Amino acid sequence: MTATVIDGKAFAATVREKVAGHVARLKEEHGITPGLAVVLVGEDPASQVYVRSKGKMTVEVGMNSWEHKLDADTPEADLLALIDRLNNDPAVHGILVQLPLPKHLDEDLVINAIAPAKDVDGFHISNVGLLGTGQKSMVPCTPLGCLMMLRDHHGSLSGMDAVVIGRSNIVGKPMAQLLLGDSCTVTIAHSRTKDLAEVVRRADIVVAAVGRPEMVPGDWIKPGATVIDVGINRIDAPEKGEGKSRLVGDVAYDSCAAVAGAITPVPGGVGPMTIACLLANTVTACCRANGLPEPE
Ligand code: NDP
Repeated sequence: MTATVIDGKAFAATVREKVAGHVARLKEEHGITPGLAVVLVGEDPASQVYVRSKGKMTVEVGMNSWEHKLDADTPEADLLALIDRLNNDPAVHGILVQLPLPKHLDEDLVINAIAPAKDVDGFHISNVGLLGTGQKSMVPCTPLGCLMMLRDHHGSLSGMDAVVIGRSNIVGKPMAQLLLGDSCTVTIAHSRTKDLAEVVRRADIVVAAVGRPEMVPGDWIKPGATVIDVGINRIDAPEKGEGKSRLVGDVAYDSCAAVAGAITPVPGGVGPMTIACLLANTVTACCRANGLPEPE
């Protein structure tokens, strides 16, 4: 069997196109431009790349974009003061604080200082609680993107066995909540899971969010299962030349693609969907703030 490749890059382009349409309508019909403020503390190279790319795409869909770059040693009080200012700025509909934060800053405190209605990453405890209880919330972008691809591929997910590998607050746990919300039977696996291979072999849907290059081999995959690879790992690629590297996911792509029914590639799978969902969440936040109907 050769798996269908779920093209996250193409799917994300259609999501961004829809977002751009909503933004244009909000401007024309209501004179409102949705706006996203991104806060970056310090100079983590990967975070800088993400923030640049988020800003570029925000502008491309017609929204306002603000980047707030703070020094790595910024005192917590200054960061909290900035968040307070953004919370109270009516032109700002979405606020994203790029993680990870430098060690001296309390990540939970900072995230929970964001107004829940503007928390487009969906990490605020209010949004976590709303998602967990099946209420309207801001849904974390990476799991939302995974769910959209799964729904697009399968239609209904009802009754499917899903295994999420990884239990982080930003990917694994919200992913499991979303799959449960779509009536999957969900198992969350992690570093203490006994016989992970056997657990994964039961799954119709495997979501790998571990951060370990190519950890899931093809012989863990049930024939025909759908594999969503969240991992982004940079590894050495001497075959491309000295000092070169390449990106790989948490699943061994070739061996899994030989068994799976469908699979997301890395790059070009979950990654582009994450940013597209961030833009969609910002439009949703803008509509809610203005009492307007939300895009579907
Ligand atoms: P974390 O490091 O926060 O969590 C990793 C999880 O994997 C933990 O729950 C850990 O278990 C589990 N784990 C680690 N080793 C094993 C193992 N050997 N067997 C089973 N489980 C294991 O990572 P994130 O959730 O933040 O990210 C996961 C991956 O997704 C990373 O590669 C990251 O770069 C990528 N990512 C991609 C995004 C995208 O847009 N595509 C967005 C966000 C993340 P335990 O809890 O027991 O320690």
